[in-house]
Amino acid sequence: MAQTFAVIGLGRFGSSLLESLINDGQEVLAIDNNQETIQEYMDIATHAVIADAQDEDSLKELDLPSLEHVIVAIGHNQQASILATILLKDLGCKHVIAKAENNLHARVLSKIGADEVVRPEHEMAQQVANRLVSPNLLNY
Ligand code: ATP
Repeated sequence: MAQTFAVIGLGRFGSSLLESLINDGQEVLAIDNNQETIQEYMDIATHAVIADAQDEDSLKELDLPSLEHVIVAIGHNQQASILATILLKDLGCKHVIAKAENNLHARVLSKIGADEVVRPEHEMAQQVANRLVSPNLLNY
């Protein structure tokens, strides 16, 4: 059965995640505050809406706590990432995964209640380094 997701922020990471989830048959609500970006993903996502993730009323209208997973894929704009994460947890979202730009950003996101924090470039670099150093080691 399909799981339900929201991906907030359709930059390189968010849009790749969205496409992977859709290709896997999952239900994904795409959210971005940029109209052109939302237009681009309108036909790909299950639903796509323009909304500012820093705006509590906009988030409330989207009924995000009813979804199983919410991913905050805004990294560069750290203020938006932090405010969105805290608002989502206060609204009662069960599983919030937040993308961090750097170690300090990751620590802040964990402290304010993100259930999972990811650093895609950092994690991928570690995987590549492991593969190069230990080519016989399998990465899961
Ligand atoms: P990536 O490295 O994955 O490309 P990034 O870390 O550079 O992304 P940003 O450039 O901060 O992240 O934002 C990624 C996306 O999030 C953009 O499409 C941007 O329009 C969107 N975004 C930024 N701020 C907000 C916000 N307050 N509400 C909703 N979407 C936002």
